[in-house]
Amino acid sequence: MTTDAEPQQQLAGIGVSPGRASGPVVAMPAPVAEPPAGSTLEAGDDAEQAAERITAASSRVKSDLEQAASRATGAGKEVLETTAMMAADPTLVSAAQLLVRESRLTPARAVWQAAADVINQLAALGGYMAERTHDVADVRDRVVAALTGQLPPGVPDVAHPFVLVASDLSPADTATLDPARVIALVTREGGPTSHTAILARALGIPAVVGVAGATELPEGSVVLVDGTAGTVTLDPTEEQIAQAIALAARVRTFDGAGRTRDGHRVPLLANVGRPAGAQEAADAGAEGVGLFRTEFCFLDRADAPSIPEQVEQYRQVLSAFAGKKVVVRTLDAGADKPLPFLTSADEPNPALGVRGYRTSWRNPQVLEDQLTAIAQAAEAESADVWVMAPMIATVPEAAAFVEACHVHGLATAGVMVEVPSAALQSGPILARAAFASIGTNDLTQYTMAADRMLGELAPLSTAWQPAVLALIAATCAGGERNDRPVGVCGEAAADPALAVVLVGLGVATLSMTARALPDVAAVLRSVTLADCRDLAALAVEAESADEARQAVRSRLAILDELGL
Ligand code: PEP
Ligand code: MG
Repeated sequence: MTTDAEPQQQLAGIGVSPGRASGPVVAMPAPVAEPPAGSTLEAGDDAEQAAERITAASSRVKSDLEQAASRATGAGKEVLETTAMMAADPTLVSAAQLLVRESRLTPARAVWQAAADVINQLAALGGYMAERTHDVADVRDRVVAALTGQLPPGVPDVAHPFVLVASDLSPADTATLDPARVIALVTREGGPTSHTAILARALGIPAVVGVAGATELPEGSVVLVDGTAGTVTLDPTEEQIAQAIALAARVRTFDGAGRTRDGHRVPLLANVGRPAGAQEAADAGAEGVGLFRTEFCFLDRADAPSIPEQVEQYRQVLSAFAGKKVVVRTLDAGADKPLPFLTSADEPNPALGVRGYRTSWRNPQVLEDQLTAIAQAAEAESADVWVMAPMIATVPEAAAFVEACHVHGLATAGVMVEVPSAALQSGPILARAAFASIGTNDLTQYTMAADRMLGELAPLSTAWQPAVLALIAATCAGGERNDRPVGVCGEAAADPALAVVLVGLGVATLSMTARALPDVAAVLRSVTLADCRDLAALAVEAESADEARQAVRSRLAILDELGL
């Protein structure tokens, strides 16, 4: 704890998931390195004893994983249980022991090499077996870590609540975080709209990314993470901690009907990834689903999911929103969400590559099957199903997608506007499509030529950029000309001040992580539609993102009252 006399050390980054939390720092361990090829036992070493060390290390890994699984919840528990089962499989241990006995490899090298064989065999089998390769790699890393005295990979299994500090986190690591233990997240890398940030928001874990000195924060030191302001304070005062606790304890709810003070309705919808999140969103009062990211159901799949499998997943989301609107997005594979069955790993610029709708040029059957599955799910449930394609760039693409949906009996077919060309062509596009949903994360990335994954480019990577706002306005104008609704489902919709601007620009619906609903609803309720239009004009006319943000925020006193 700092005294008043000492200056406090505060690190600045980009707040990507709002909220404040204070706790001790726990660092994410460095990845386990491959033991050098050809590492062999010393001349006098007993190969039998060395081989036995592998058995001991693997049973320790198994029991550690079982213990960790018994403490974990949700997705994290499942992952740990699966890995514990893999660790118990004797195939890897026996193969590694043979390499120690016959080739006198060190135990760590033998495990690495034996795992490589298992991984190759599984990969060659394809399908479910190929999906298990990452489990084998995880077990391998854990056993090698145990043999070489390194920390096991992944989120450390610490029993008390902590602030996780990492160089970067993959979406897969983030998805399995347990918010009861990981109370905040600080990373050195990462952009504001990376999928890691999106997942942190969905889990309600305050997060700051792009923090230059993050990995030098001493293990165990207490920090206060402010995911709203984007700061990390080392050794916070008691008063700062008390304030953070008070703010965190304030629970706001959403009454289930988004509107301005003068009654202009703006349905507030939820973004959903895995089906499990759908019920949570419904419970939070979401008026429907504005973006169902279907690719999140299949991130670990080596082969395309079958139609019945897809139907089963989609129905879970639709059934949570009986009678309500659910916008299902067709697979948006590529860039930081590769799906091995759709995307190639060797594109030089994956964000500009064959991603989103473009994957159907190569693999038309995958889109066909997905539309069949969506249609079957829609038939079986009572939700009002809308379908849209990601990364539409041209009028013919929009027309072809709408036609494909109609062939499958999916009447409400729309497009995402994520590429500037689509925003500029929104008139003819919306003459064909029933609606548009603006993906501000990608629209910003492509408008500003700034990779959304790079924290360093955060000043460019914001939908407060007047150029991005102008493209949103252009899209809304195209919608108005054709009497078609335009929504926003990118992260911009979850920023309460920006949400007001979007409504002023003509956006009809806002879709966001369910946790953002109460804040966005509260700020929207504090302004009239005319206020929204005035604020939108201010923002579009600003000459920089900062100027736009400041101009709007300074006129929304409610933000301070709510600690936003
Ligand atoms: C977007 O780009 O804003 C969007 C909603 O899609 P995703 O974040 O999944 O790319
Ligand atoms: Mg996108």
